[in-house]
Amino acid sequence: MNESNSPSNFIRDIINEDLARGTHTSVMTRFPPEPNGYLHIGHAKSICLNFGLARDYNGVCNLRFDDTNPAKEEVEYVDSIKEDVRWLGFDWEDREYFASNYFEQLYQYAVHLIEAGKAYVDSLSAEAIRDYRGTLTESGRNSPYRDRSVEENRNLFERMRAGEFPDGAHVLRAKIDMAAPNLSLRDPTIYRIRKIAHHRTGDQWCVYPLYDFAHGLSDSIEGVTHSICTLEFENNRALYDWFLDNLPVKNRPRQYEFARLNLTYTVLSKRKLLKLVQENIVEGWDDPRMPTLSGLRRRGYTPDAIRNFCDRIGVAKRDSTVDLALLEFSIREDLNDRAPRFMGVLNPLRVVIENYPEGREETLEAMNHPTDERFGTREVPFGKVLYIERDDFREDPPKKFFRLAPGREVRLRYAYFITCVDVVKDPDTGEVVELRCTYDPATRGGNAPDGRKVKSTIHWVAADHAIDAEVRLYDRLFTAPDPEAAGEGDFRVCLNPQSLETLTACKLEPGLGQLEKGTTVQFERMGYFCRDIRDDAPDHPVFNRTATLRDPWAKIDRQQKQATRATS
Ligand code: ATP
Ligand code: MG
Repeated sequence: MNESNSPSNFIRDIINEDLARGTHTSVMTRFPPEPNGYLHIGHAKSICLNFGLARDYNGVCNLRFDDTNPAKEEVEYVDSIKEDVRWLGFDWEDREYFASNYFEQLYQYAVHLIEAGKAYVDSLSAEAIRDYRGTLTESGRNSPYRDRSVEENRNLFERMRAGEFPDGAHVLRAKIDMAAPNLSLRDPTIYRIRKIAHHRTGDQWCVYPLYDFAHGLSDSIEGVTHSICTLEFENNRALYDWFLDNLPVKNRPRQYEFARLNLTYTVLSKRKLLKLVQENIVEGWDDPRMPTLSGLRRRGYTPDAIRNFCDRIGVAKRDSTVDLALLEFSIREDLNDRAPRFMGVLNPLRVVIENYPEGREETLEAMNHPTDERFGTREVPFGKVLYIERDDFREDPPKKFFRLAPGREVRLRYAYFITCVDVVKDPDTGEVVELRCTYDPATRGGNAPDGRKVKSTIHWVAADHAIDAEVRLYDRLFTAPDPEAAGEGDFRVCLNPQSLETLTACKLEPGLGQLEKGTTVQFERMGYFCRDIRDDAPDHPVFNRTATLRDPWAKIDRQQKQATRATS
């Protein structure tokens, strides 16, 4: 029985019943990616479900590559898929399978169907086959080749395998029922000729099984008990069962469908993600704006955050769309607990402390986490020249602006109170280039002994010790909640032009120089940032913004909703 803390769902109910009734004594699931692209957050839902069930029921989950289409599949994808599943925290042990391992067995199954009079070689063109198939309201017509003899079918199928015919000359079809209300039962194609080298079997084969034929039989060969797929395969279930009912299989798996993950502001389809890569709209499969696991990893997402997200969204039978804000919430929640705090100035403005002794330096103690003492403290250098965030100063502050302004006193985090006494401008442009300030030595550590208060605390970095860094501010890739609907098929029309802003003159606290690549920290007040695993170099640190501290889109969404309400 299931004794985990995982939330219940209809698939768990089915498994509980199967175990109680003795239909199965153990559970075997599988995660079956086609190696034709990188895994995305939708796949994570399927991975967490399949591996999670195996874990909770003391069963096993296989990793099976569904590699039946040699035209689109590559070893690069196989490798990335393994890396991503492992990174998410799941282990398939020695059960790494490929549908292509079963090609000989599958071929023999096809011969078995031919010999039972349940499959035939069709020589209609692909177009004619589509034509003969009929529609939802119109039954199909039998192919003129449907009544070929077993002998002729066996002979033609052998010659297809031997490479005697060009692509498309013949296919092998299951002989079921051209009038079946379920279109997937109208004599589906089960083998086709493709004279293309396969990433694993090379030139060994030139006939390849189709997904519907290969999938259920691969499940059966491995001994899978519960074959879980997404809702678009609901109609194919009858066919899944037909093959198992008509072949001498040892194991009888069952297919169950659940709702795929859809996310707002996101496209989740390998075909469309490939297009983003091929058209250089993003920099690659692991671009931090991509919803791929490699993109999320590079962005600074943690496996825990993704698994928590998958638990939260649950597993249902009806399609729905999850708000991207929920994924962002999951990473903020996780990083709030685990990310050490640092100070980093993204848009620096130089500050000179006029009354701070020339040449003097000191270090101040800073907390690495505001609530968790286990993170400890660190030493941060302070000096006469500092950088603060340009946005933290206004020469002419509006009403509710409480940060630095001429004549105003604020607290420098972990350091001193400072007061702005003068503003230096570029004589040509009028731009503020430096602030002259004074500090109160009695406020060391950030508190005034006389009890006086300041209205704001800002972060800073000492100029002499700052490291120069590039910081990439990532935002949503699309501006429309449903990019496909908004673009009427062309999602490029709603690309967010501000999805990446690169800042090249950032000043970071020196401790960040030692940070390992791929580590995510919080820059206080600015958000979570991950040291880039690809472009970072010792003399050129690069940080990717993982998430802002709050959801900047919440307000926009609220405004949009109010606007729609007002006009409707
Ligand atoms: P895509 O539509 O992105 O190309 P796919 O379904 O063709 O995905 P596969 O490699 O065949 O990709 O998927 C492997 C497994 O992941 C399948 O069991 C599939 O149902 C599941 N899966 C794919 N996309 C999602 C999703 N958005 N949500 C949940 N599960 C998904
Ligand atoms: Mg697929």
